[in-house]
Amino acid sequence: MPLITVERKVLEKNDVIANDIRIKLKAHKIFSFNLLSSPGSGKTSLVERTIVHLKEKIQIGVIEGDVQTDLDAQRIDLLGVPVAQIVTNGGCHLDAGLVRDALTKIDYVHLNVLIIENVGNLVCPAGFDLGEDTKVVLLSTTEGDDKPLKYPAMFRNASVLIINKIDLLPYVNCSVQKIKENALAINPDLKIFETSCTTDAGISDWCNWILTQANQ
Ligand code: MG
Ligand code: ZN
Repeated sequence: MPLITVERKVLEKNDVIANDIRIKLKAHKIFSFNLLSSPGSGKTSLVERTIVHLKEKIQIGVIEGDVQTDLDAQRIDLLGVPVAQIVTNGGCHLDAGLVRDALTKIDYVHLNVLIIENVGNLVCPAGFDLGEDTKVVLLSTTEGDDKPLKYPAMFRNASVLIINKIDLLPYVNCSVQKIKENALAINPDLKIFETSCTTDAGISDWCNWILTQANQ
């Protein structure tokens, strides 16, 4: 059997489950996003800052994807919101079946927002629909401004780009302007935020965007 057929079947099966998830989340009016980046860009830190800013206003739940540990889920648990850990045991992306299983572990029906933190990887997570409303890609200034050109699928499939660690700009060889140009050349519709989880710069703009989405 040609490899391409196998891959298509895996993705078709994934899409059926993703569709079920989407229907369930919509039925409970939950806004969800799939948070994607390479390892160390600050996904969990962004989730923490987001929860701190919004938890008095809306109910947030988190699904944490990780290759090996539940360290990130422990960080989120400290903030007192529902969190489910998926350990992929070496797997380099989440798929819809894993998210469906994780949803059985949290009381999600009362949530306004579900955040799915994917495994740190800019390649294959872009290809897997998890039943989310939208994909948010996080890129930190320490990674350089050429990443949109190197991993175009991730930037094409996302609707939001967050440029994180802007507090480190004086120390790194990275131009925010170039990140924006490179990303918008691939996806002109990207909404872009600039954030720092250390100084809290840009976090309220990002959180206001979430609130707008959650109230639709
Ligand atoms: Mg993390
Ligand atoms: Zn993968």
